[in-house]
Amino acid sequence: MIFTLKLPMQGPLKYINAYLVKDNEESILIDTGLPTQEDLIALTNYLKVNGYPSFVVVTHYHPDHIGLVRLFKDRSNILISDREFEYITYLMSEEYEKEMRQYFLANGFPDEFIQKMFKNRSRFNEIIDSVNFNTVKDGDVVKFGQRQMRVLLTPGHTMGHICLAYDKVVFCGDHILQDITPNISLLRLEDNPLKAYLESLDRIERLSVEQLYPAHGEPFKDVSKRVEEIKEHHKRRLEEIKNIISVLRRANGFDIASRISWYKKWDELSTFDKQLAMGETLSHIKYLVEEGVIREINNTNSIYYTISS
Ligand SMILES: [Zn+2]
Repeated sequence: MIFTLKLPMQGPLKYINAYLVKDNEESILIDTGLPTQEDLIALTNYLKVNGYPSFVVVTHYHPDHIGLVRLFKDRSNILISDREFEYITYLMSEEYEKEMRQYFLANGFPDEFIQKMFKNRSRFNEIIDSVNFNTVKDGDVVKFGQRQMRVLLTPGHTMGHICLAYDKVVFCGDHILQDITPNISLLRLEDNPLKAYLESLDRIERLSVEQLYPAHGEPFKDVSKRVEEIKEHHKRRLEEIKNIISVLRRANGFDIASRISWYKKWDELSTFDKQLAMGETLSHIKYLVEEGVIREINNTNSIYYTISS
């Protein structure tokens, strides 16, 4: 039995779906909601009536998914992917701040804007404070009652994002959403998140799933159609970036990000949207560099891109 707990959140997504799957006396909760008073009350009330699940699975580290995980410490077995755990460890390190600040600055992004990006990290520490995670890896099976779920590693939206296959359905977190294309950001230099993401889309498409249960929006059936639409979106964006570089002849990340046709003009985007847009731009640039379409010229303090000849 699948139960959906809709936890409110501000912004266009409106709510995050926490899914509870039950069999006999055992259950799995997938994702936990934001660390807001509103979600805390909703989730606490729910747990009072329904009790604590045997397992809590966090699909990825974003606050709407992991935000209330501490409610389950000492009560449930809390699972996250080994890759996501590594990724979080990096994102919380001094090294991340040093490396990525340098990389964003070299790409021409304004200092003040980057400062803001690194400011909120201490809040994440509070979210996971004294929570003991158990890590799972691709292919692992989580058994509850007479049933089971299989872990599918689907890197891209975050580098350790997981989906969970259950019978003929897949709980897909933020990997595939109906109404928006999930953000794909470059946050670690060694990664090629867009390439990983496109491969993860293929992976889900190949499973011939009957229905997807996303973390935002309603469950939906036509998986291939949605996968193709999302791929098309990224193809167009790659094309757009290539054109911008052709016109400018040489361009840094900021030159490109500020010229992409986002849903609003760059100057009108909120700081948060700009962060997402920057990450998104750099992940597409990284993809084009690794495909050999464009060339990165790196002079430590300034990085720019040209079309490969
Ligand atoms: Zn997310």
